[in-house]
Amino acid sequence: MPFDQLGLAPSLLEAVAAAGYSEPTPIQTKAIPAVLDGRDVLAAAQTGTGKTAAFTLPILHRLGDNQQKKPRVLVLAPTRELAAQVNESVRTYGKSSPVRSTVIFGGVGYQPQISTFKKGVDIVVATPGRLLDLLQQGHADLSCIETLVLDEGDRMLDMGFIHDIKRVLKYVPAKRQTLLFSATFSQDIRKLASNLLDNPLEIDVAPRNATADRIDQKVVLVEKPRKRAVLSHLIKEHNWHRVLVFARTKHGANRLCKQLDSDGLPSAALHGNKSQNARTKALDGFKDGKIQVLVATDIAARGIDIESLPHVVNFELPNVPEDYVHRIGRTGRAGESGEALSLVGPDERKLLKDIEKLIGKQIERMTVEGVDTRAGENDEPDERPARQPNNDRGHHGSRPPKRGGGGNNAPGRNQQRRRSRGGNQGGNRSGGGGGGQS
Ligand code: AMP
Repeated sequence: MPFDQLGLAPSLLEAVAAAGYSEPTPIQTKAIPAVLDGRDVLAAAQTGTGKTAAFTLPILHRLGDNQQKKPRVLVLAPTRELAAQVNESVRTYGKSSPVRSTVIFGGVGYQPQISTFKKGVDIVVATPGRLLDLLQQGHADLSCIETLVLDEGDRMLDMGFIHDIKRVLKYVPAKRQTLLFSATFSQDIRKLASNLLDNPLEIDVAPRNATADRIDQKVVLVEKPRKRAVLSHLIKEHNWHRVLVFARTKHGANRLCKQLDSDGLPSAALHGNKSQNARTKALDGFKDGKIQVLVATDIAARGIDIESLPHVVNFELPNVPEDYVHRIGRTGRAGESGEALSLVGPDERKLLKDIEKLIGKQIERMTVEGVDTRAGENDEPDERPARQPNNDRGHHGSRPPKRGGGGNNAPGRNQQRRRSRGGNQGGNRSGGGGGGQS
């Protein structure tokens, strides 16, 4: 079905055409008419399916040209990056509409966010924590919300936001339209849906845990101390200009980033200990091509949408098999092809098996010429063994004991945190903070 039969206003159809979309994605075909009708929606759709436009376009249509002082739409998202991205989409699709939107998240000053609410705003896209602060301090008023969107609901639950969400909901009218988007329909999501949604239309566009066919997945079996040399070799040998690398820990991401830099590959790290300015700067540098390798942890990388990202590398496999699907879903987006490579150490074979079980196929093993994949005497010792699978889902804070009684010279956690903070305060970029208003 073409876009112009979905019932959207001409100005929105123009914005869609300007974005270069020729036809709606399956989630858009199903969700747009339902949201226009005012129905509640429960949708299983991963990032990359076009879900943001699926709720943003009909919401903008429903708001029309009316501006009111108090916000009428609230979108809750799990991470700052996702919130910023949704707000960008609102601005892109709503560029010829007078509707004002803002993004609210922590890690930046309160004042611009407070004055945005004072001036009046129509659409608020927020992470739950900062929004709750503003509500409790009396700076935000959500009493006129007509539509509530929970984006990446499963991740919000994984990240422990359920209590903040419940508290935020006390400020939102009970009579409203609610849209819940989640990568999967877990039992917890179903429970949340049954509490929040009224006779929702259920949409399930992405078969659960299926990996996109367009993504070429490969595994390189490599001993842990050789991973970094193999990664540098592959990037240089194949001239990969933009690579997203997943590391398991913040410390590991920082360390790998420094090593790749010293191998002559411009790199940046993206994780939760980085200041918001540093995170924005890293992501912008990566999108602009100044940064060749972005080394990220799962939390920071969730939801980020980078156009034309041909390569994703798992430097370490995730502990939760479902996260593998999310990680590799960063590539092969919007119809492009992509390559996902996993460097798998001897202690990660069980994790690999679990992933293969989840995706229902064996991932092709690949050999790498021109670099040794087996560890030698001169290699650096491993920092930490892979955690065994089936640990608590989303419990990213617990850490296994370090091997070898701390025989390497890696800085302690607090030291590292101080350093990374100190090293990342300089990247102040205009417009990088939250609270900006369109
Ligand atoms: P999302 O799932 O919302 O993260 O969107 C993933 C990507 O798909 C974004 O880069 C969008 O710009 C793009 N996109 C959204 N709708 C369409 C469409 N109908 N046709 C092509 N690309 C789209």
